[in-house]
Amino acid sequence: MTDCIFCSIVDGDIPSHTVYEDDRVMAFLDANPLARGHTLVIPKAHHERVNDLPADLATDVFAAVHDLTDRIERAVDADATTIAFNNGTAAGQEVPHVHAHVVPRSEADGGRPIHALIEDRPDVADDELADLAETIGSA
Ligand code: AMP
Ligand code: ZN
Repeated sequence: MTDCIFCSIVDGDIPSHTVYEDDRVMAFLDANPLARGHTLVIPKAHHERVNDLPADLATDVFAAVHDLTDRIERAVDADATTIAFNNGTAAGQEVPHVHAHVVPRSEADGGRPIHALIEDRPDVADDELADLAETIGSA
């Protein structure tokens, strides 16, 4: 897609520090990293959100995340990683081309878990959890 920064990286029009590439998936270092080794894993084809990905491409992206995570952790001697997608603008996605963030973590980094994303949590009763599970499960 024209004027997509990640498509431009795929096309070689914008440079990147590439750590992995095959015919369908690419991974490169985040230019504004949250930690050393912060890596973005993307499908080469332009899709905006995880929900837009064809199932086989979603599998390819996750396979690359799976392969790279240990390599990233070892490269920067990390204790762990936070792996996340900002999936849609309301969730903070700024670049509208699906990308997994693989962020190296350590006990001392002062970072927080995914549960720190939202402070004002809903109080969801058990019967509503059951209804939601039924709705999602039967959709
Ligand atoms: P998000 O908010 O999930 O859309 O994250 C977009 C990420 O892309 C941010 O972490 C940026 O630092 C990163 N980013 C933007 N432009 C580039 C670029 N040219 N090369 C590498 N990373 C980039
Ligand atoms: Zn794109």
